[in-house]
Amino acid sequence: MKPDSVIQLRKRGGATAVTVPRLEQATKLRLGFTTRLDGVSRGSYAGCNLSFEVGDDDGAVVENRRWAARLLRVPFESLTFCSQAHGDEMAVVTKEDRGRGLFSSRQAFTGRDAMVTNLLGITLCILTADCLPLILIDPERRAAGVAHLGWKGTSLKLAMKTVFKLGQEYASKAEDILAILGPAICPQCYEVDDALKEKFLGDDKVFRRIAPRHYSFDLVGANKAQLLEAGVKEENIIDTNLCTAKYLDYFYSHRAEGASTGRQMAAVMLR
Ligand SMILES: [Zn+2]
Repeated sequence: MKPDSVIQLRKRGGATAVTVPRLEQATKLRLGFTTRLDGVSRGSYAGCNLSFEVGDDDGAVVENRRWAARLLRVPFESLTFCSQAHGDEMAVVTKEDRGRGLFSSRQAFTGRDAMVTNLLGITLCILTADCLPLILIDPERRAAGVAHLGWKGTSLKLAMKTVFKLGQEYASKAEDILAILGPAICPQCYEVDDALKEKFLGDDKVFRRIAPRHYSFDLVGANKAQLLEAGVKEENIIDTNLCTAKYLDYFYSHRAEGASTGRQMAAVMLR
């Protein structure tokens, strides 16, 4: 199946998200990436912050999550979270897990950075501000996955492991899987030093030298390469191609704004 990769901005009920409407239609699911536009958070979190973990008011986060659910056309109670730890642990989401972490990050899956499910009506959510949110869909076996990919998760090959997890749990074939790469920091905005390059376990061609002992890091490119290596077809990879550090009106950026900023959400629900 060739995905129709026309990316659109959807605005509704006081929030805005990046969506792929024809793909949602064709694969009978809901998916999207929220933006910071609108929402009720204030100050440095201004807009639609969806994380309890950044120091924002909890009530505002819950309200924003309600807006996000309406916008993505998924039930609010279906939003399911993992408490991300920059590792490579994955969670298989069951019926009992629906809504985990919705009102408190203490209830979220602890120390997991990816989730998979084949159940209808569960919305898998990943929170980011520069890290790459990845959505995986297997329209054949009807399964979905999400992953949170910073440089550590990338180094640990979490994107590849999540593809394999879908195979292990649901017999998904990599060649059937569609991968949607959400808004993330681009190489021009992501400068790293020697120390990080030394620690990175993957192929170091994702680093480009820009000054003595300084490099730009291609987070999205590194993960695309992993998806291809895992057997995902190039034509099945959709890159939203939006830099979070550049488009600060639209997205939260940890790099560009520091620690006191919000998080946007990537979400997918089979239906
Ligand atoms: Zn950029």
